[in-house]
Amino acid sequence: MSQTVNTRMLIMGSGPAGLSAAIYAARAGLKPIVLQGLQPGGQLTITTDVENYPGFREVIQGPWLMEEMQAQAEHVGAEMVWDLISAVDLSERPFKLTGDSGTLYVADTLVIATGAQAKWLGLDSESHMQGKGVSACATCDGFFYRGKKVAVIGGGNTAVEEALYLTNHSQDVTLIHRRDSLRAEKILQDRLFAHPHIKVLWNTAIDAFVGSGSPEVLTSLALRNVQTGETSSLEVDGAFVAIGHKPATEVLVGHVPTDSEGYVLVETGSTRTSIPGVFAAGDVTDKVYRQAVTAAGMGCMAALDAERFLAHEDFAAHA
Ligand code: FAD
Ligand code: NAP
Repeated sequence: MSQTVNTRMLIMGSGPAGLSAAIYAARAGLKPIVLQGLQPGGQLTITTDVENYPGFREVIQGPWLMEEMQAQAEHVGAEMVWDLISAVDLSERPFKLTGDSGTLYVADTLVIATGAQAKWLGLDSESHMQGKGVSACATCDGFFYRGKKVAVIGGGNTAVEEALYLTNHSQDVTLIHRRDSLRAEKILQDRLFAHPHIKVLWNTAIDAFVGSGSPEVLTSLALRNVQTGETSSLEVDGAFVAIGHKPATEVLVGHVPTDSEGYVLVETGSTRTSIPGVFAAGDVTDKVYRQAVTAAGMGCMAALDAERFLAHEDFAAHA
C-alpha cells in the first residue's frame, strides 16, 4: 500500500556523496532519509581495490568502504530506504518525490547525489572482462598496470587525460579512436602527440576484448579499421574505456537546471542549485574530478548548505 513519508532532508543516492551528506545531516539532528537507488553504495561497489581514499594505509575494497560509510551514517541516525525515485515535483516546497515502491516522499530539503555512470561500448566481451583488465577509470585502476601495456578507447578530454595519466605507470600506452581526429582540447592533444610513450591508432573500433588464462585476464583487443575493414589484434594487459560519462539525472531533467549533458548545475563554490532547498553533490554535478573523496567532500558541503538553509528559514519564521 502506498504511503507518505515526511522528512526534513531527503538524500537521493547512497554513494560517497549521499552517505557523507547523511552523516553530517544526521549529526545535525535532521534525521535524513537516504534513498539507495538501484546501486546501494554507488559506483565503488563495482570495483575491488581502492588505494586512494584517505585514511587507509592498506589496500581496501570498494564494497567494504561503502558498507562502513553506510554503517556510520546509520549509527549517527540516518535512515536507509531501498527505493528509486521515479517522479519528482520540485515546483514548490515541500518537495514531492515518488519512489518505485509507490511511497511519496515529502521533503523540506533535497540533496541530489545520484552520481554518474561511465558509458560503455556495449560489447558482451566488455562486460565479461570488467574487473579482469577492462576498466573505465584510469585514476582508480591505472596503478595495477605498472610496467604493462595499456590502451585507452576514446577521443575526448577524458581519454587523452587518461592516456597521459597512464604514462605515470606504463611506457606502452595506445590511444584508440574511431575517427581521424580528436575532440579533446588542443593543449591536451599537443601533450599527447608529444609524449614518447603514447601512440595513437586512428579510425579504429574495438570488436572484442579478448582474455585467457585462469583466472581469466585481458590479453588483447580485436580491432577493426573502420575505413578499410581490415582487422588486427593488439596485445594489452589493461584497457580503459573513456567514451564519456552519463549523469543519473533522467528523472530530474526539466525539474532542476542541468547543463546540456544532464549534469546538475550548482553555484560555484557551493552545492546550491537555483531552486532554494535543492542541493547537489558528487558525480551528478562534477564532470572533472569524479573521485570518491571529492564526492564525499561535496556531500559534506551539501549537508552543511542544507542545514544552514533550514536554520535561516527557522530563524526567519520565529523573528
Ligand atoms: P555514485 O557512487 O555513483 O552513487 C550514486 C547513488 O545514487 C547510487 O547509490 C545510486 O543507486 C543512487 N541513485 C541513482 N539514481 C537514483 C534515483 N533515481 N533514486 C534514488 N537513488 C538513485 N574513485 C576513487 O576515488 N577511487 C577509486 O579507486 C575509484 N575506483 C572506481 C572504480 C570504478 C570501476 C568506478 C566505476 C568508479 C571508481 N571511482 C573511484 C569513482 C567513484 O566511485 C565515484 O567518483 C563516486 O562513487 C561518486 O560518488 P557519488 O556519491 O557522487 O555517486
Ligand atoms: P566526450 O567529450 O563526449 O568524448 C567522448 C569520446 O568518446 C569522443 O571522442 C567520442 O568519439 C568517443 N566515443 C563516444 N562513443 C563512442 C563509441 N560508442 N565508440 C567509440 N568511441 C566513442 O566525453 P569526455 O571526454 O568524457 O568529456 C565529457 C565532458 O567533460 C566534455 O565536456 C569535456 O570537455 C569535459 N571534460 C573536461 C576535462 C578538463 O577540462 N580537463 C576533462 C575531462 C572531461 P567522437 O569524437 O567520434 O564522437
